[in-house]
Amino acid sequence: MSKLLKIFIQQFNIVSACKNYRVKIWQCPNFLFPVMGFITILGMLTTYYLGISNDIDPYTVALMVLGISTILFLIGHFIVASFQMLAETNQIKSDFISIASHQLRAPLSSLKWSLEFLLDGRAGELGDQQKHYLEMSRQDNVHMITLVNNLLDVSRIEAGLMDLVKRPLSLKDVVTETLNDLAEYIKSQNVTMELKIDGDLPEVLGDREKIKMCVQNLIDNAAKYSLAGGKVVISIIQNKKFVEFNVQDGGLGIPKKAQKGIFQKFYRAENTKSYSVNGSGLGLFIARSNIEAMGGQIGFDSTENHGSHFWFKLPINSPAGELNLKK
Ligand code: ADP
Repeated sequence: MSKLLKIFIQQFNIVSACKNYRVKIWQCPNFLFPVMGFITILGMLTTYYLGISNDIDPYTVALMVLGISTILFLIGHFIVASFQMLAETNQIKSDFISIASHQLRAPLSSLKWSLEFLLDGRAGELGDQQKHYLEMSRQDNVHMITLVNNLLDVSRIEAGLMDLVKRPLSLKDVVTETLNDLAEYIKSQNVTMELKIDGDLPEVLGDREKIKMCVQNLIDNAAKYSLAGGKVVISIIQNKKFVEFNVQDGGLGIPKKAQKGIFQKFYRAENTKSYSVNGSGLGLFIARSNIEAMGGQIGFDSTENHGSHFWFKLPINSPAGELNLKK
């Protein structure tokens, strides 16, 4: 097939064109164009039918059809053009995020390596003050690497390129491992953690690293949005065909009007901004995409100034699941 013909056919592949724009199908100009065309034709036919069934003279009917089709065509044109502009801007923004985060990753990793080299004393002994400043730089560096990794994950999710390695695993093990990794951080936040785990939990089917990221994000949020001295209760229970992870804090809570946007990317509730708690608004967006891609569900309930309860649940590993993995 000639290259030109392929490009011509690609123009009609609405699904792939909308995927490139990374917008929902009903926001995609390639979908809206035929829809507006259909509405215009429908408008013309209806006007024609109404005209002749009301015995209006053919000349006036023709003028009415012409008028209606011109109006519908103009409205359609403006709608499609506006969505085209929005979709193109969205694509440019996504490409920018992806390129910028790829470019930032290498220098940040090499900076991490250099800072650890210096802090280990491999380039000579350091004084306390030097260590202190280098440690601060190391923490900022880790923070920036996390942010860049989150941005890369967002690009992958939007491009539909997020890979999952699903295996049967114990959610209890993942949670205890994450809590160990976060022990120092939790201490520094001045919150106490309580862990309640149902005995004899079945294994779930999921991607270990992605689940760990979700657990980390929910615990990190509970700790950072708790007021100092607060208590966070973590529990893992079996809920029908799912194993459910819960985090309950008694912190800032989420105002009612902010609740519907909480899983959108870059979204942060006003009350958290006013307490100047650091964050990017990406963690929950990534967590939801990953949990849903594993066949699970995620949600929360929260009351402002009284705390939040976040949870996710993952399907129990069934023999059918194992069978699918072996295929
Ligand atoms: P980040 O915490 O980096 O801003 P997230 O995507 O993890 O990003 O969370 C999005 C927003 O949801 C937060 O900015 C905050 O406004 C709100 N939020 C999440 N978890 C909690 C919580 N446990 N208590 C209060 N607000 C929360």
